[in-house]
Amino acid sequence: MNPIGHTDYVSGLVYRGQYYDAGKDSAAKCSFCGQVLRFVFVLKDMAGKPMPIGTCCFDRFDDGPIRAELYASQVLLKAAVGRAERDAKEQATLCDVSIRAAQWRAARKKAKKLIKWYQENTKSKWLTRPLFDLRQEADRKPEPGKKPQFSLRWYAKHGIALETGISQAMGHMSLAGQAPPDSFRLP
Ligand SMILES: [Zn+2]
Repeated sequence: MNPIGHTDYVSGLVYRGQYYDAGKDSAAKCSFCGQVLRFVFVLKDMAGKPMPIGTCCFDRFDDGPIRAELYASQVLLKAAVGRAERDAKEQATLCDVSIRAAQWRAARKKAKKLIKWYQENTKSKWLTRPLFDLRQEADRKPEPGKKPQFSLRWYAKHGIALETGISQAMGHMSLAGQAPPDSFRLP
């Protein structure tokens, strides 16, 4: 006797808690009714041959241990799939965060370079209004330990603010006859 698993003495099938997610493009089919299955529960017949079935056919079993075990497995499987999907989403967000953070850092570097160039070339202690605003924006830093979704929005918003600030400051500098060299042009 196998201590793990339940046998249905009417059908001769055994269930040992084997189940899996066959994925959204699954080709697995229910051995009883032929329905295509995303969530597969594998029973075995007396010869040990696997018999994949789906939730579609749980109720073919009497109200006994096999049916209870199948429904319990379904709960576990759905929870596991939900967790995996959330993890995948989290990973995708983290990847986007690193791209946005890199764009923000590049814009910030450019902003600081532009301010420095202005100060060195005008020998002025004072910044023009657009450059002053740009410096304030460039001094901002994200708060550490925020959720990825929050960081993503932060980097996107402030990266755009920096790029906008740079173009405005450069426009202002051109009008004042203090245009910086071409190397400051944004792509
Ligand atoms: Zn079925």
